[in-house]
Amino acid sequence: MKFGTKVIHGGLKPDESTGAIMTPIYQTSTYIQDGIGNHRGYEYSRTQNPTRHALERNLASIENGKHGACFGSGLAAIDCVIKMLNPGDEVISTNDLYGGTFRIFTSIFEKYGIKFHFVGMTDTSAVEAKVNEKTKLIWVETPTNPMMNIVDIEAMSVVAKNAGALLAVDNTFATPYLQNPLDLGADIVMHSVTKYLGGHSDVVMGALITSDDDIAEEIYRIQNSSGAVTAPMDSFLVLRGIKTLHLRIDRHCENGEKVAKYLVDHPKVDKVYWPGFESHPNHNIAEKQMRGFGGMISFSLVSDKLKDAHSVVSKTKVFALAESLGGVESLIGHPATMTHASIPKEEREKIGVSESLIRLSVGVEDVEDLIDDLNQALS
Ligand SMILES: *Cc1c(COP(=O)(O)O)cnc(C)c1O
Repeated sequence: MKFGTKVIHGGLKPDESTGAIMTPIYQTSTYIQDGIGNHRGYEYSRTQNPTRHALERNLASIENGKHGACFGSGLAAIDCVIKMLNPGDEVISTNDLYGGTFRIFTSIFEKYGIKFHFVGMTDTSAVEAKVNEKTKLIWVETPTNPMMNIVDIEAMSVVAKNAGALLAVDNTFATPYLQNPLDLGADIVMHSVTKYLGGHSDVVMGALITSDDDIAEEIYRIQNSSGAVTAPMDSFLVLRGIKTLHLRIDRHCENGEKVAKYLVDHPKVDKVYWPGFESHPNHNIAEKQMRGFGGMISFSLVSDKLKDAHSVVSKTKVFALAESLGGVESLIGHPATMTHASIPKEEREKIGVSESLIRLSVGVEDVEDLIDDLNQALS
C-alpha cells in the first residue's frame, strides 16, 4: 500500500457490528465479560480501547512499523521511553532539543539517576565521544526545533548499534509522510500527535511506534502501568486528521518553500533556517532522508533586538501569535520568550536561539496572503 492509501485505510476496517465506515468513538471505560477471564480483547480502557487501538494500528501502518501506542501528550510518550531505562543509565541527545523534552529530561528524570548528555548531533563524532558502557539510549530530533538542524538518522543508528543502545527519533516536524526513521534504523519513533498528525490544533496527544516486539511489550506495560493514555474522542479526531495528512503536508511544503524564499530576499531579515536551501549546512542529509522540507521556518532579524522581534510577531494578522505548530493555520512565535524560555539564556544562545529569532509554522492558506502579511509586519 502507498502512503495516500495507508493514511485512509492502514490498520483500519469498518465496524463489525454496524458496518460504520468510520471508527466509532467507544466512549466506555469497561467491557462486559462473558465469564471470568473470558472477554473479547478489551477489559478496561486504560489498558485498551477500540478507538485508540484503531489509531495505534493506523499510526504503525503509516510509520512502516508493527506496533503503535498513544499517550495523553507528546511528553507522556517521551516519559514512557525514559521509563524503559534504569538509574545509572545514560542518554545522549541533541543540544537544540524541543524545550519540553529538555525539561522532562533534566527536571524530572535526572533526579532518578539517569544522566543526559546534550551534544551538537550534526557532528557524529561528538556523539561517539559521549558513548560509554552506560549509554542506553540515543534520542534524536530532526529537523530540530527551532534551528532546523538535520541529524543523520542512519549514521546515528550505526552509533547506537555499536553502543548497544536504542535509537529513538522524535519525528514530529517531518511527519511519516516526509521521513520514516524506522526504515533508517531507528528502534522507536515518537510523535507529538498534537502537531501535524492531528493537524487541526484541537487535540493534545503523543505516540510511539516500533517494529520490535520486545520494545512494544515494554511500551504497553508502561502505558498501562503509568496510565497516561489518550481518550477515545481524541483518538477519533486524530484518525480523521490523518486521512488528509499527505494533502496537507504537500501544501505545507509548497507554502514553506515560497515563504522561505521570500524571507531570504528581505533586507530586514538576517538568516533563514529551512532545510530546503542548498546553503543549509545539512541540506544533503535532508535530501537523503526526507521526501520534502516542510513548512517550519525560523529566521533572525538584521537588528538583533528583542523589541524588534516582538514587534514583528505582534503585527502579523494571518499568522497567529501562538505556541505549537503543524495545524492548517499559520502560526508565528518567538522561541526565546515562548517555547524555549525554559532553556537557560546561555544555552539558548549557544545553539543560535538569539533574541531576534522568529519561528513560523506555515499553514495551508493561500501563500500570497501569508507573504503579504509578513511583508506588512516586517515593514
Ligand atoms: C510539541 C512537541 C513535543 C511535545 O509534545 P506535546 O504534545 O506538546 O506534549 C515534543 N517534540 C516536539 C518536536 C514538539 O514539537
